[in-house]
Amino acid sequence: NVHRGLHWLSETSTEKYENVRIKAANFLGAKSSNEIIYGYGATYLINMVANTWGLSNLKENDEIIISIADHHANIVPWQMVSQRTGAKIKAFNLNYNDEPDIDDLKSLVSDKTKIISVPHVSNVLGSIYPLKEISKIAKSVNSLFFVDGCQGAIHLPVNVTEIGCDFYVFSAHKLYSAGGAGILWAKESILNQMPPFLGGGDMIDNVDIDLSTYADPPYRFEAGTPPIAEIIALGEAISFVENIGMENIRIHEEELLKYFHKQLESIPDLKIYGKSENKSGVISFTMDNAHPHDIATILDQEGIAIRAGHHCAQPLMKYYNIPSTARASIGIYSSKKDADELVKGLNKVKKLLK
Ligand code: PLP
Repeated sequence: NVHRGLHWLSETSTEKYENVRIKAANFLGAKSSNEIIYGYGATYLINMVANTWGLSNLKENDEIIISIADHHANIVPWQMVSQRTGAKIKAFNLNYNDEPDIDDLKSLVSDKTKIISVPHVSNVLGSIYPLKEISKIAKSVNSLFFVDGCQGAIHLPVNVTEIGCDFYVFSAHKLYSAGGAGILWAKESILNQMPPFLGGGDMIDNVDIDLSTYADPPYRFEAGTPPIAEIIALGEAISFVENIGMENIRIHEEELLKYFHKQLESIPDLKIYGKSENKSGVISFTMDNAHPHDIATILDQEGIAIRAGHHCAQPLMKYYNIPSTARASIGIYSSKKDADELVKGLNKVKKLLK
C-alpha cells in the first residue's frame, strides 16, 4: 500500500504513485501537485465535487449551468445535488453548426449562477467548447467554472491556468491507460474550503471515537486504498502522449478528422452530427434506413469497431430528435486507411440493408 508501511516496498510504491501527481500537474499546467486529486474516474470525481463543493455551497434558487451536449456524468450528479439543495439546473443550447451557443449561455447567466460546468469537447459531436470565453462569462458573475475534460485532455493540449477554470477532470482509460483511475485538478484555495467526500483511512489528521479532523488536500479527498497500479499506469500514459507531444497528436487527429469527414460525406443518405470546423476526436452519424446498432454490428463483422447508441447523452439525442447515432472515434493510432475501410464497410451496410 501507499503512505502506510515504512518498508521499502511501500516507500517505492508511494514514490511512484506520488510522482504521477507531479506529472499530472505539469500535464495540465497546474501550479501545484497539491491541486491534483486521484479518483476512480471522471464520474467518481464529478460526483465528488458535486457532493462536497456542491452540497456545502449550493442553496435554494442558486443555479447550475450545464450544456445540452453534456455526458450524463456531468448531468446526473448535479441533478442529485440540486434535488438536495433546491438549486436549479439550466442548460444552454447549440448553434446551427452544432457548436455551443455562447449567446444562449450569456442569456442564462446571472448573479444566481454558482457554477458553470461544461465538457471540453462533446463526446458525441466533437465540438470544442471555447473554454477561455466561458471562463470570462463565469467570472463576470462570480461563478465557478468546472470542465469535464474527458474528451479534451486526451486529444488537445490543456493548460488549466490559461483556461481560467476552477476544476478540470479526466479519466485515465481514455488516455491509453488502464480503467479505474482519473484525475481531478482544482484550485488549491477551493480544495482547502471543501469538506471530504468519503471517510476512512489516509484522509484524516486525527481520529477520536466521537470526532475526527481531516488531512489537507489532496489527501482529504482520497479515503482508503487508492487505485495504486492504475495511477502509476496513468503516469506512464502521460509520458507516452507527452513524448509524442499533445500538439503533434492534435495535428495528426485534425488532419485525419478532415479526411474522415470528406470520405463519409461521399456516402449518400449519411448525416453527420457535429458540423463545427473546430472539432476533435469523434464523428457521429446516422444513415437513412439503417439503425445505428445494425451499422455497428455489420461493421464489427468487417473488423471495424465503432460505438452506437445515445453515448450517455440522452438530452442531446432528444434535442436532435433521434434515438441514437453511430460514432467513429479517432486516436493516435488511427490512419487514413481506417477512414477508407470505414467507407467500404458503410457501403456494405447500405447494400445489406437496402
Ligand atoms: N464525460 C465525458 C465527456 C465522457 O466522454 C465520459 C465517458 O465517456 C465521461 C464523462 C465519463 O467518464 P468515465 O466513465 O470514465 O467516468
